[in-house]
Amino acid sequence: MKCLFCEIAEKKRPAKIIYEDELAVAFEDINPQAPVHCLVVPKKHIATSLELEKENNALVGHLFQIANKIAKDRGIAERGFRLVMNCNPESGQTVFHIHLHILGGRIMHWPPG
Ligand code: AMP
Ligand code: ZN
Repeated sequence: MKCLFCEIAEKKRPAKIIYEDELAVAFEDINPQAPVHCLVVPKKHIATSLELEKENNALVGHLFQIANKIAKDRGIAERGFRLVMNCNPESGQTVFHIHLHILGGRIMHWPPG
């Protein structure tokens, strides 16, 4: 099929799904970089954040609302956590279907490297 995260969203590929609604899905990252590392993914295929149009503004806000809920549920909201959306190869983007990384449960360093 076309895209890894479309496949996960369509349940054609297994993932540890932790949240789902009509617009988005969230699941555990397969290669976690922190004690909490989840991905929030819109069901609609959008390859990179550069492709976001005005009509997607509410969808992007929705991804942040989901991330906030997961951060609270996992107990990292008050301690602090990082939300990351990589865009294109030099950022480290490897899956070309937008996704918000939720990283937490340890101290995050800056600059991120
Ligand atoms: P990025 O590098 O920003 O494109 O992030 C892609 C993320 O997807 C990486 O953190 C990968 O570990 C993660 N990933 C790749 N394949 C899977 C999968 N099948 N299930 C869950 N996470 C995945
Ligand atoms: Zn896709």
